[in-house]
Amino acid sequence: MAPTASFSASALEAVGPGATRRSSLVQTVLGPLDASKLGVTLPHEHIADGPDVLNRWPKAWGGRAEFVAKAAEKFQLVKAAGVSTIVDLTTYDVGRDIRFLEEVSRRSGLNIIACTGQRFFPPQDPHISMPARTIAGLTEFFVKEIEQGIDGTAIKAGVIKIGIITNRPTALEEAGLRAAAKASKATGVPIRTHTDAGHRAGESHAAILEDEGVNPARVSFDHSDGSGDMDYFLGLVKRGYSLGMDHVHRGTAADSQPSFARRAECIKLLIDAGFAGKIFLSQDAEFGGALLPQDARNWRENIDPAEGLLFTTQRLVPSLKRIGVSDRDIQTMTVENPRSFFGQI
Ligand SMILES: [Zn+2]
Repeated sequence: MAPTASFSASALEAVGPGATRRSSLVQTVLGPLDASKLGVTLPHEHIADGPDVLNRWPKAWGGRAEFVAKAAEKFQLVKAAGVSTIVDLTTYDVGRDIRFLEEVSRRSGLNIIACTGQRFFPPQDPHISMPARTIAGLTEFFVKEIEQGIDGTAIKAGVIKIGIITNRPTALEEAGLRAAAKASKATGVPIRTHTDAGHRAGESHAAILEDEGVNPARVSFDHSDGSGDMDYFLGLVKRGYSLGMDHVHRGTAADSQPSFARRAECIKLLIDAGFAGKIFLSQDAEFGGALLPQDARNWRENIDPAEGLLFTTQRLVPSLKRIGVSDRDIQTMTVENPRSFFGQI
């Protein structure tokens, strides 16, 4: 399928009739922003893990200044293509670089929301002693990054990301999820999880989050399109959870299940069932890693889309329109859902 370019940013940013608006703020790396200004938003990406490599080897591949310049140049193209905001779900334990995010946001004009939270992988990272952490300790750490700032800066996290690798959370992963729940309830900041949808992991996450009393409207289970099971999807959205459809590009590989077509079809079926307001579109691209030279990024090549950060807008959105998804529903998923999800009232 050839990429198309029928995505219209201006149409997506138009305010639809009947939309209810409440003033709310979201923390970006350049400070608080009215959530109504987020525009077209990619809610699950990674743009700051590559720079962390340069923090460890500062002179590699032309050095940090060249890397920042390359990133800012690419982000200007992303912005020109109609994307206004990117949410970076790179947690500190997988190489978050908050000053990099700040600098490229300032240079490119793209809004960037940074996260707190944990990926928990690898679980025995020698730089941290996670097994020693308590739920209270993790909660305190997440709240500090939300209310005071990240890594000694005043830049605040606007979302909590928790990585849970399988459908059976380890004790450590469960502690992280419970801490995320407590931090979210204390601050109003929403939660996104790395979810093994193929094994219905959203259900085990939901049980833990509900035990903590979290409002499902503040939670998105990401990588959900790894499942093609409508029963699983409908069970979660009816409980109030959102689904991040951000691995759709992985369905383009010849032997991939679910296929690209099935993943797109499930999005359409959810919309037809009345749940456009519970769907997010993104592509979980590792932008920072993609800027590295070939020999440093071979491992990622087979899973990131060729269109990079523009897969959603240049390929997925046109494909959804071809199977009958309306411009209004596209706007709901790409503009309105991020505004209500990330905005703190
Ligand atoms: Zn991710």
